[in-house]
Amino acid sequence: PVDVLTFGEALGSFRAPARLRMGGGINLDVAGAELNVAIGLARLGHSVRWASKVGADEIGELTLRTLLAERVLVDSVVRDPAHPSALMLVDKPRADQARVQYYRTDSAASTLAESDLVPALAAKPRIVHATGITAALSKSASSATTFALRTAVAQGAIVSFDVNHRSQLWSAETAISVIGKFIPFISVLVASADELPLAAGGETDEQVAVEQLIAGGISEVVVKRGADGATAYSAAGRQDADAFRVSVVDTIGAGDAFTAGYLSAMLDGLDIEARLQRGVAAGACAVGSASDWQAAPERTELERLLTAADDVAR
Ligand code: ATP
Repeated sequence: PVDVLTFGEALGSFRAPARLRMGGGINLDVAGAELNVAIGLARLGHSVRWASKVGADEIGELTLRTLLAERVLVDSVVRDPAHPSALMLVDKPRADQARVQYYRTDSAASTLAESDLVPALAAKPRIVHATGITAALSKSASSATTFALRTAVAQGAIVSFDVNHRSQLWSAETAISVIGKFIPFISVLVASADELPLAAGGETDEQVAVEQLIAGGISEVVVKRGADGATAYSAAGRQDADAFRVSVVDTIGAGDAFTAGYLSAMLDGLDIEARLQRGVAAGACAVGSASDWQAAPERTELERLLTAADDVAR
């Protein structure tokens, strides 16, 4: 049996070093929140399946090739000849500002439907991890998400859900209403501090939102706070973890690396404090790289960071 099933959209990511309109060199990578989590978990030695639809195109093949190289199971990925893989353009209008433009309308993954997830769910994953992005892609991707969460719970799997709000894909009002319907299925809810209200009916007071979510049946509410670390609320109360002090190249993808670390420690049977520790350590590795997933740590790197060993590997 596989440890984790996740599903969502992969994007070909074209990154320019400055303003895109200046032309010049572009770096090609693959991106996607669930893909980042899948690679993060696979790097830590867990068995992970990523289910999706990709275009029957070069970006689709790059996605599959990347995931295969990272030992992520892709046997449930469908190649769609009628819809293209999604794309994103990343550029830097200023040195400290990243700007993202999406090309994901009518993408292959936006046609994801319940039936596409049936084989992957039949393999009885221990954890099913989904994000708000998939629900925001289209009506069919949203019902596929509901179906996956409901099936996971019926099978006794743990459901992990990252709010991952994308304001370019849907409004806060729609997100609040759709995510509200997912709450009864979720065991582990992950959100950045500013996204938490979207999972709690719009409630902006963190304490009140958390109480509401825990009363709604969620066992762990995990709040990401960037350079300020992370917090987990559970039956054990509130636990905080500081972030590591590291040089930052690009913070995009840190949240997904954090989630992979957190779920990895959960799969290993570790307590909430250790889950947070592994999450912030994996997040710290991710901010050191421009790629969303390339710096995801393997176990030995993680141990080195957690035991504060020498900065120089000799
Ligand atoms: P994104 O959506 O850009 O991936 P996010 O908002 O989901 O990010 P963050 O809170 O930015 O997630 O980052 C997740 C975790 O990564 C943080 O809890 C922290 O442990 C680590 N992290 C993020 N930024 C930094 C930083 N500047 N320095 C050290 N650790 C960081």
